[in-house]
Amino acid sequence: MSPEEFRRHGHAAIDWIADYWASLDDLPVRSQAAPGDVRRLLPASAPKAGEPFDALLADLDRVVVPGLTHWQHPRFFAYFPANSSPAAILGDLISSGIGAQGMIWATSPAVTEVEQAVLDWFAEALGLPADFRSDGPGGGVIQDTASTATFSALLAALHRASGGEARRHGLGDAGWRVYGSSQAHSSLVKAAMMAGLGEDAVRSIAVDPETQAIDLAALEAAVEADVEQGLTPVMVHLAAGSTSTGAMDDLVGAGRIARAHGAWVHVDAAWAGVAAVCPEHRAHLAGVESADSFVTNPHKWLLTTFDCSTFWVRDRAALTGALSILPEYLRNAATESGEVVDYRDWHPQLGRRFRAIKLWAVLRTYGLEGLREHVRSGVALAALVADLVRADDRFELVTEPSLSLVVFRLRSGDEQTMAAMEAVNASGEAYLSHTTVEGRAAIRLAVGSWRTTRADVERTWRALQAAADG
Ligand code: PLP
Repeated sequence: MSPEEFRRHGHAAIDWIADYWASLDDLPVRSQAAPGDVRRLLPASAPKAGEPFDALLADLDRVVVPGLTHWQHPRFFAYFPANSSPAAILGDLISSGIGAQGMIWATSPAVTEVEQAVLDWFAEALGLPADFRSDGPGGGVIQDTASTATFSALLAALHRASGGEARRHGLGDAGWRVYGSSQAHSSLVKAAMMAGLGEDAVRSIAVDPETQAIDLAALEAAVEADVEQGLTPVMVHLAAGSTSTGAMDDLVGAGRIARAHGAWVHVDAAWAGVAAVCPEHRAHLAGVESADSFVTNPHKWLLTTFDCSTFWVRDRAALTGALSILPEYLRNAATESGEVVDYRDWHPQLGRRFRAIKLWAVLRTYGLEGLREHVRSGVALAALVADLVRADDRFELVTEPSLSLVVFRLRSGDEQTMAAMEAVNASGEAYLSHTTVEGRAAIRLAVGSWRTTRADVERTWRALQAAADG
């Protein structure tokens, strides 16, 4: 493809995206493809001779779109959002065009320094403690996902707790134990599995049945029982917005228990953390001042194309101590000067994209005021959903709405709840997801798209009411 053809096809690709967005309202939100439907439309092998790029664009509508669940659809309310936005897409495109590897500062100083600056800005915008900023002992880094951030936090915690032994000789016989509520995201158990601790090293702590937040007395009892048995608490994982219901663990109380036993405190605010761009939506982060690490995903609710998970640590030495490795081919004068950050030491992988550009583009294009407006609109629409639930006797809220997430059910029972949700999802009108709370089925409706309006919420509610009628 010549540079001129690249320009032409590039314009066509952006046009395709804009047309795709414009068409979303009329498309079923959840893909109606059956297993194998997409694959059947693809040839068995790659073409021998090159084809015009237009042929690929044409196949997007024919092959890909019918096999998509439209995450950018204004009535996508399932899971948590994976928001994209025009600014983030253009930022990501530029990152691809630059095509630089930022594994070490020396391989592209701008990749590292823009990321440091943007994460310092973002930490300030969220009201995070100054200790997390890069001008002190801490700092931030963009990870691919919150799962990787939690894994990295656990490796840092093991490094600190073992006095560096873990990286040299492995886990030894300290009997490391990790704590999280029964509502902690599954990435915690996966992190323990990947770290070689095994899933049994994770203590699943009971939650308050009403708030679904970690039960502090149960946490304290579990930690103390383990210590009594000669086991070693290494990390307490706290949810600032659990996946199932958006439950908020008490960071102050749980942090105190963790610190009393020398355990690392990791705050997983993957979804809800970005709401802190609004000063009035920071209460759930009270106590983050004493956390050792914190993660939130702009790639969920904050308009930044996947993947962009922002992760901060109070003491970067624990993280880099766990993960640094310097083969001869990466030695360079800048690293040896000690004046630069080499992000390859901040996560499991070596190579890394220039992800900061898309977050930079989002922060600059929307400005903090624009981002606050986006978050506030999601919270307001969720409050509307909660009002609609309260106003219809057939439905009930399962938990109080949490920011932009509403969890509710049909009073008539689990079967009816699941049937109503499935009917809406199958109709293509909207897309919702489910969970179980205290053993009973519930519907999750998470608002988050920049394209969702009051009319979309009302239309979805009408579809749910019709489904409840049977
Ligand atoms: N933590 C919480 C609270 C989540 O809700 C999720 C995903 O929804 C994750 C972690 C995992 O996020 P990621 O896909 O970025 O690993």
